[in-house]
Amino acid sequence: MSTYWSELTASLEPYVPGEQPKDRTYIKLNTNENPYPPSPKALEAIREAAGADLRLYPDPTCDALCRTIAAYYGVTKEHVFVGNGSDEILAFAFPAFFSARQPILFPDITYSFYPVYARLYGIPYITVPTDEQFRIDPQTYAIPNGGVIVPNPNAPTARFLIVNGIKEILETNKDRVVIVDEAYIDFGGESVVPLIAEYPNLLVVQTLSKSRSLAGLRVGMALGHPELIEGLNRIKNSFNSYTLDRLALAGAIAAIEDREYFAETNRKVVATRERTTAALRELGFEVIDSLANFVFVTHPVKAAEELFAALKERGILVRYFNKPRIDRYLRVSIGTDEEMDALLGALREIAG
Ligand code: PMP
Repeated sequence: MSTYWSELTASLEPYVPGEQPKDRTYIKLNTNENPYPPSPKALEAIREAAGADLRLYPDPTCDALCRTIAAYYGVTKEHVFVGNGSDEILAFAFPAFFSARQPILFPDITYSFYPVYARLYGIPYITVPTDEQFRIDPQTYAIPNGGVIVPNPNAPTARFLIVNGIKEILETNKDRVVIVDEAYIDFGGESVVPLIAEYPNLLVVQTLSKSRSLAGLRVGMALGHPELIEGLNRIKNSFNSYTLDRLALAGAIAAIEDREYFAETNRKVVATRERTTAALRELGFEVIDSLANFVFVTHPVKAAEELFAALKERGILVRYFNKPRIDRYLRVSIGTDEEMDALLGALREIAG
């Protein structure tokens, strides 16, 4: 039976996340998680927080965490917002800064949550073409718009746009909010956080899910002019229940303060990425230069969908997107050296 509400429900097109299979143990290279455990100091802080105080609500302003992030970046806490993963921050940012009045811009190949949020909030959007190698041209963002969102490095392509490229987009869109989604910035890219002092229209969104191995804790952060942070707080405070829990607050603070562990795990991921890139190229794959914790690869002969299936059969999960332009590609998260050796061994059998 078709009802008024069933049609409305059917019109929602939710985001389809990467598989989290439970049928067997896979080498999981499909959702860009970090292969290394969180900082031991973060785990200790979470254990400590798991005590009698859990009967108390957490601090709704997340003050201590905002101060920690502010100190890390050399700004004040008025420039910082935190959320349950950067996805939640984006869910707040879309209605805070974009509207039905004018279309927002984002790259044609990009994080597939952006169109989901745009549709959910009734915000029109224009997908700006990337070139045949998925490069973003800042000049193409100089068309009338109601705001811009660009991930840097981009997902799933891993393409990185240099700081001057982001600057160009900020310059041509000074009266609109430009969100730079830096989910993957810590694997070799240069963050544009220092630009928030110069550009009151810049919101930088980051996450603890990737470079700090805390995808399971759900912590994201945003940095920008206090007016933008105020905008996010207004949306957040319209949903009374939304704040980080006590375990997340404690773990996030300790993880950010443990700079040594962070540097060491990132260094390992980057070294493994470079080694894997070279090995994949030797096997005949085209690999886009990556500054993320994943690589985007295509094989000149073997179809990506077949490679995906053959790897899955061998217990290795990677990401295949059945979408125009990228259906020849696989996105492969960087695991440990042993996991990448298993991947390379399997690919030698399948595609060698
Ligand atoms: N932005 C991009 C570009 C991503 O790939 C992801 C991870 N899927 C996110 C944001 C969200 O990450 P999280 O919600 O775990 O912080």
